[in-house]
Amino acid sequence: MRSSSPNQVTADRVTDKRAHPERALAERALDPGEPRAVLHRAADLAADYLEGAERYSVRPAIAPGEVAAQLPRAPPEQAEDWERILEDYRSLIEPNVTHWNHPGFLGYFANTGSLPGVVGETLTAALNVNAMLWRTAPAATELEERVCDWLRQMFGLPAAFSGHINDTASVSTLIALAAARQRAWPQVRERGLCGGPRLLVYASDQAHSSVDKAAITLGLGTLGVRRIPSDRQFRLDPDALAAAIAEDRADGARPIAVVATAGTTSTTSVDPLAAIARLCQREGVWLHVDAAYGGAAAICPELRPLFAGWEAADSIVMNPHKWLFVPMDCSVLWLRDPDALRTAFAVVPAYLETSESATNLMDLGVQLGRRFRALKLWMVIRRFGVSGLERAIRHHCELARLVESWVAADPDFELAAPVVFSVVCLRARSGGGEAVDGAFQRDLLERINAEGGQLLSLTEVRGRTLLRIAIGNLGTQRRHLEHAWGVMRREAERLRRERGLDVAALSERE
Ligand code: PLP
Repeated sequence: MRSSSPNQVTADRVTDKRAHPERALAERALDPGEPRAVLHRAADLAADYLEGAERYSVRPAIAPGEVAAQLPRAPPEQAEDWERILEDYRSLIEPNVTHWNHPGFLGYFANTGSLPGVVGETLTAALNVNAMLWRTAPAATELEERVCDWLRQMFGLPAAFSGHINDTASVSTLIALAAARQRAWPQVRERGLCGGPRLLVYASDQAHSSVDKAAITLGLGTLGVRRIPSDRQFRLDPDALAAAIAEDRADGARPIAVVATAGTTSTTSVDPLAAIARLCQREGVWLHVDAAYGGAAAICPELRPLFAGWEAADSIVMNPHKWLFVPMDCSVLWLRDPDALRTAFAVVPAYLETSESATNLMDLGVQLGRRFRALKLWMVIRRFGVSGLERAIRHHCELARLVESWVAADPDFELAAPVVFSVVCLRARSGGGEAVDGAFQRDLLERINAEGGQLLSLTEVRGRTLLRIAIGNLGTQRRHLEHAWGVMRREAERLRRERGLDVAALSERE
């Protein structure tokens, strides 16, 4: 075997690099000046996008597979230059996303990747810390605890709650229900569910599908979620909940948790949290409040009474990436007793043992590695200030009231649910009765979205298809809503005419 001195190795590498300049590019440390030059160009691209997303149709007019057809099937063997990479981003990726950061985005729960959030996200990537342990990320851990506590204060929650950040509400709800399961059946950690009682979670028929997914993951099965009927305003009925719990106990099952929703996905209804909290306390059942979207509204004093009772919850989830202007992803989970999560999840192998008395975020859930999500939340809260965030939320609610007034005044449309926050649910009168109504709303939605200036979504509640206008983007102004409303009216009228539906006799028929 040929032995070589360190100098010889270096000399070999240099020769090799001359022969293969691209390989040298992939192996070398960053060139002085390269990060600055490239990041400035990336910053220009991001700024151009933030300032001009409106030049795009909200949804790109492409069919499935069109982007993939333009991507090479195999990865590049040799390093490519920045020029080409960024040009491909600009010409192939940016135009072919659905533009959630477009002010005409009115679908699902509209959100905003605001400037302070984008800056925070960029710096998070540059720092690239893994916040699994305090010692692997001291500032990330302590900032996360502090910003979650800022949010707690902003929403008027008691100091007893401590929060941390997950990726999504689905994961926050999953781990909250795991803690509830642990409390109700302590053997579960060692023995699993074998030989235990039937464990049940309760939620309204309007609660989010993440509750079902959590039950599937936790071994309760979808039959382990009992859906309680909601009232005429889509709120969980506490009497029906009490009756279901009593019936299940008599049947030998063990109720472990109730998931109450403050801002349901379809209509943004708010369950009667105080009555549900009292029932949970009486029954010794964990209360998890899903305020993933609605929670942001608690920043406004005039809306906070809607949340009365959530202070008695065991856990609360709220997503700053929905309606608090933080880019995807960022979901805050508060627990009254964070040790309940440690009891459920903490597993510390020798290589992760530490001696500091400090929070190790890895103990609070499934994942070991964690992104530094607190930085963008911190920057958003600081740059807008509490009062700025409060004004923005209030403005969105005012815009929703404005749309509500247009719908209420138009005989060809009807409101389909009370407007609670910043979402308006409505139906266009099809004039054709129930048989054609669902297809009419769906076809109408396609036409409204195809126009390009806005994107709406739909939902189904009690067998009826509803259109949803969700306001949540910081750029959305009255003119965007006027435009969308004009398109909705025009397209509804065209569709009725094309289908031979009698517009004049419309209100008599329905
Ligand atoms: N809970 C509610 C009420 C929601 O509306 C949603 C999503 O829209 C979720 C939970 C799930 O959120 P995520 O996408 O963060 O998992």
